[in-house]
Amino acid sequence: MPSEIALAVLLLLCAPAVGSFLGVVIDRVPRGEDVVARRSACRACARPLAPRDLVPVLSFVARRGRCASCGAAIPPWLLYTELAATGAALVALAAGGGPLQVLLNAGLLWLLLALAVSDLQWLRLPDVLVASLGLLVAAHVILFADPGAAVLGAALGAGSFWGLRAGYRRLRGREGLGLGDVKLMAPLGALTGPWDLPLMVLLAALVALAAALILGARAGHTLDAAQPLPFGAPLCAATALVHLFWVGAI
Ligand SMILES: [Zn+2]
Repeated sequence: MPSEIALAVLLLLCAPAVGSFLGVVIDRVPRGEDVVARRSACRACARPLAPRDLVPVLSFVARRGRCASCGAAIPPWLLYTELAATGAALVALAAGGGPLQVLLNAGLLWLLLALAVSDLQWLRLPDVLVASLGLLVAAHVILFADPGAAVLGAALGAGSFWGLRAGYRRLRGREGLGLGDVKLMAPLGALTGPWDLPLMVLLAALVALAAALILGARAGHTLDAAQPLPFGAPLCAATALVHLFWVGAI
């Protein structure tokens, strides 16, 4: 029991910092900027951030979401990512399992979160995040799941989306599904396995449709097929749900 409490404390202490790092990755990779070497600075006035500006969650709250030097607004999604990363750690702990399983699940949820935020923010699913997810999924499969089913799930996931993408392009003469979504479906399909893959895609499609309808209604127009949708975000959310809480996945 003490080791379980220690793991929970460690995870919850690290989670906001992990969220902060993921925010840096999501903010910089799509712009082609270095994640490690470049010092954090205000995007408006270029003032380098001091250590007191880099404390996850607390710095944002203390500065009321503004740069200490020029007063420019700091994008709130950075704060939401730090909070959501902490929520993801709580979900991983709630899902249970041995210490290694909990740690792996936390890592999987953090990468799914990073991909979802990146898709919502930029309509991009960076290769480095998809590859990192692939590595963690491989570790999970080797330790806790059926490798044969995972390979089949990955092939079915990426293969079916590749077919959809090619079919749509031939039929409509334009892109309907990004290549990033096709690549993402390999680790997602491996994680859900072939049997739960259709349920995951159905859940994601329903969430995406509901979001598009609600946002469209609020903006005063109906669905526009030419409008790009961040489909990677609901795919990541549905995978997390199916992986952790769908009994059929065990
Ligand atoms: Zn500034």
